Amino acid sequence: MRENIIAANWKMNHRASELEQFFQQLLAGYKEREGVSVIVAPTAPYLARAVELASPAGIKIAAQNMHFEASGAFTGEISASMVRDTGARYVILGHSERRHVFGENDEMIARKVKAALENKLQPIFCIGELLEQREAGKTESVVTTQLNAVLTTLNAEEMLDVVVAYEPVWAIGTGKTATPAQAEEVHRLVRGIIRGHFGDEVAQRITIQYGGSVKPDNVDELMSAENIDGALVGGASLKAESFLRLINFNAG
Ligand code: PEP
Repeated sequence: MRENIIAANWKMNHRASELEQFFQQLLAGYKEREGVSVIVAPTAPYLARAVELASPAGIKIAAQNMHFEASGAFTGEISASMVRDTGARYVILGHSERRHVFGENDEMIARKVKAALENKLQPIFCIGELLEQREAGKTESVVTTQLNAVLTTLNAEEMLDVVVAYEPVWAIGTGKTATPAQAEEVHRLVRGIIRGHFGDEVAQRITIQYGGSVKPDNVDELMSAENIDGALVGGASLKAESFLRLINFNAG
């Protein structure tokens, strides 16, 4: 059985008081489910406070980004060991906003994944194609290139600590969701690529999340697909009530 992971990516939202209120409401309604892990990724200044609030309930905290260097003259950046000092144990890497708004490329993302693993942080490694790439029939080649850039730098043991998130860029924050069939097709491809690098046993154990306008009214259908093992959620994760509904998905 693979671990299912429902993760909240708050992006640059929720200040201190909103974080307090969110966790108060979340914890009031949260019941741990076997085989389902829950992760919340607030902005960096609140990581330590989020760990304090969430840990007693078994909810894990992720950073939204980090730099690959250990320390030095990188104004405004935070390192993997600094993230780890906050108590966070996950880090989102390669999110489409990092790739397309902040210009991160595959090589930088591969270095970040490696640095995270070296510091015992589990990367939530995001991949996904742009709309024009999908329309040009390039989804498979884009996703393959993004995956290979990272997978070629890892061994099997390291890979087992990686969570992959397939997030078609055209579905992020747009209200357009990939159909379960569209998502499943890419998830199957992703697992096949992982199998090609590390063998079937590793491939079967890797959690592959879907991200892109996951909401209470589509989560059940998406989670019913064989190779979809969780969700990385932006908009619908900001309110505790809606996030709770996602955590309580019903995969049939
Ligand atoms: C995301 O930011 O990773 C995301 C999937 O956002 P949304 O759920 O809002 O589409």
